[in-house]
Amino acid sequence: MLDIAVIGAGPAGYSAAINARKREKSVMVIGQSGGWLARAESIENYPGLPGVSGEQLLAAMREQALSMGAEQRPGVVHQVMDMGGVFALSLGGDFVEARRVILCTGAKQPRLLPGEEMLLGRGVSYCGTCDAMLYRGKRVAVVAQGPEAVSEANFLSTLCEHVTYFGAPDPALDARIEVSDKKPEAIAGEGRVRALVASGEELPFDGVFIFREAMALSALLPGLEMDGAFIRVDRQMHTSVPGVFAAGDCTGLPLQVAKAVGEGCIAALSAAQELK
Ligand SMILES: Cc1cc2nc3c(=O)[nH]c(=O)nc-3n(C[C@H](O)[C@H](O)[C@H](O)COP(=O)(O)OP(=O)(O)OC[C@H]3O[C@@H](n4cnc5c(N)ncnc54)[C@H](O)[C@@H]3O)c2cc1C
Repeated sequence: MLDIAVIGAGPAGYSAAINARKREKSVMVIGQSGGWLARAESIENYPGLPGVSGEQLLAAMREQALSMGAEQRPGVVHQVMDMGGVFALSLGGDFVEARRVILCTGAKQPRLLPGEEMLLGRGVSYCGTCDAMLYRGKRVAVVAQGPEAVSEANFLSTLCEHVTYFGAPDPALDARIEVSDKKPEAIAGEGRVRALVASGEELPFDGVFIFREAMALSALLPGLEMDGAFIRVDRQMHTSVPGVFAAGDCTGLPLQVAKAVGEGCIAALSAAQELK
């Protein structure tokens, strides 16, 4: 059991991990290194390192966190479940348990397809490894918007009667999978998935699997209070869910590295204080 799980491997996440280690807490950063900072060619306003590239800064933060004993695990957290003082984070078919959670998920929220939220668990799934058995011998669609899509589609093709993959062709895809260049627009169904609407056409499926780089916060942690598009926090970075903190771009403007690392630090110290 970890003391602290950090969701998101950007500057807020690494700063939270560094400061959690300074308080001698076990900490794991979950997520693929990258995010927004990796795209910045040159950062002029980060104190002490004028002109550093986003990639360099992120690599240095990562190295510092890992060298201090933080762990990192790639992957997308699908859901945070409150088990009464302990949290279970689902990652594909696996779980990570932690006593405190810090959300550092950035500002980029995925846009859900119309119908997706309503039909989640009723034909819409974010995890092939968890739900493939429910679709044994059935026809499913894969909406590919994240790095896990190819391997998950391949796994689905071992159990499902037919898999249609909505995304860029990839040589690693199993030959049984049909690749479609139609653009997913909505999910249709009353109480259960009936079809994926793509490029204006209703295509019948028993299930729709969606794989993205990030999760919508409403699916990641249902009940989390928001302030518009951002997570509501107080000055100690507590969210509305006891034991869950948030830091960085996901809590609001300004979307800046200095603010992200500052909030990551506060969130980790607040979480460590509760674990005393
Ligand atoms: C082109 C560009 C230039 C910029 N230039 C500057 C600049 O000069 N100065 C400056 O201060 N700022 C700059 N910024 C902004 C800066 O990059 C952000 O403010 C900063 O990266 C925010 O850090 P963060 O850790 O909060 O979020 P992010 O860096 O966005 O990291 C969040 C990470 O969490 C991941 N994630 C989300 N959900 C999940 C999940 N469920 N499971 C696992 N992982 C998840 C995301 O994929 C992402 O990798 C720039 C941004 C861009 C795009």
